[in-house]
Amino acid sequence: MRFYRSLFFLVLLAFSHTFALTPPKLFNQPWEDLSIFEQDLVSSYQGLSSQFPDLSIYHLDVSLSDDLATLTGQEEVLFTNTTGKALSDLVFRLYPNALGSRLTVKRVELEGVLSIGRLERFNTVFRVFLQEPLLPGDKIVVSLTFSTQIGQGTESYGRLALYNESLSLAHAYPVLAAFEKGEWLTDAPSPMGDPSVLEAAYYLVRVTAPKNQTIIASGSLLDSQESIDRQTLSFSAGPAREFFLASVKGYVQVSKVVGETVIHVYLPERFDHAATASLDFAAKALARFSSLAPYPYRELDIVSMPILASGIEFPGVFSLTNRLFSNPSGSLESVLVHETAHQWSYNLVGSDQVEEPWLDEALAQYLTLLYHRSNNTGRYVEDYLDFWDATWQDSANPLDKIGYPVSHYDEVSYSGIVYGRGLFFFLALEDLMGKDVLERALSHYYQKYSWQFVNAKDLKTQLEIACTCDLTALFNDWVKPEY
Ligand SMILES: [Zn+2]
Repeated sequence: MRFYRSLFFLVLLAFSHTFALTPPKLFNQPWEDLSIFEQDLVSSYQGLSSQFPDLSIYHLDVSLSDDLATLTGQEEVLFTNTTGKALSDLVFRLYPNALGSRLTVKRVELEGVLSIGRLERFNTVFRVFLQEPLLPGDKIVVSLTFSTQIGQGTESYGRLALYNESLSLAHAYPVLAAFEKGEWLTDAPSPMGDPSVLEAAYYLVRVTAPKNQTIIASGSLLDSQESIDRQTLSFSAGPAREFFLASVKGYVQVSKVVGETVIHVYLPERFDHAATASLDFAAKALARFSSLAPYPYRELDIVSMPILASGIEFPGVFSLTNRLFSNPSGSLESVLVHETAHQWSYNLVGSDQVEEPWLDEALAQYLTLLYHRSNNTGRYVEDYLDFWDATWQDSANPLDKIGYPVSHYDEVSYSGIVYGRGLFFFLALEDLMGKDVLERALSHYYQKYSWQFVNAKDLKTQLEIACTCDLTALFNDWVKPEY
């Protein structure tokens, strides 16, 4: 059809192209019908799919081996070119190759035609070449067959690792790179902090796994079936930055409903005594942060895992390290609330976690302070501030700026500056703008940029609109000397 020359036929071609997409093979769910994703959303987010019809749609059909060490599967992705420029390639990220695991793409098809891709940048970038440029607004279906060997290592805090029958399956499938400022973002994943840089997307996922495992995942469960020794679960999620899954054994589950959302906490039986407190903290955090912008999903899962970070956030689910639950009156509350805050800063409003880690981390710290002020005593609030002040002052250079890439910091200063000084940056903003004006500004920020990808300048602009003031000097002093 592309040989027709008249304008009439070109117009016809443009129309027909939209409908000539390769139909989904993995799910009986037409690409254009996004209603299935509304099931995962609370009422204030209903109709979201018509506001964001062009986010990528992932159909994933994956199987976990009986020993949980291998994930094999197929993936179909509907990508819409919203970049504003013609694209000659698509870039997927293969994060497992930087996280002590190994992701191999075995076959790639573009609209059903066998195609080729090239591995780049420490095997974490998979560039798929298009036969002809993909014009702005055009759509394309990419099919990938892949296999991921899951490691047992400690890279990136064990976020993608199998340890004693507990599997943390983060970033385990090929995922489209974010496209910002005219290029695919291919930052080398950082060993510290969060490695992924992702756009919001829709996910339909079918997982086959050993029957004796409990699967905890992003999104809502659509369907489950069992055979003699296997189980098949289907989930819908989205908009969401990614799809996370944990597989555990011998855990207890406790639940609590807050508004339209059910919170599930999954714990090894020996931490049973921490279940009620965990649910209570999460319920209060959801309520507090929903005053800024509603929590989008009908479910929030919290799972105790043998990870090396205190907590790791994913869309609609987060992991907390096992040791936090042994003493529920210790730092469990602050960490749990911090990870809940990432549902706003990271998932709802996305940013570059490698280049600008402060943007989601310092905000999660500040939201945790808002939570403590609303729910705990003045003494407790002081203790939270004192802890992070001391962590900040422990940095080799306490006047270092908070706005650099993860690679700028060593381990002590990453925590001290990005999390510690980052928290106090928002206290400096409070002093300048007033608490109420700052909170209103943050509320606008989360609502205006929902499901988008922002940078520090977007936050600065939103704050300046709220305070009708110029924050350049403050940003230069605290964030980076370039505003
Ligand atoms: Zn964090």
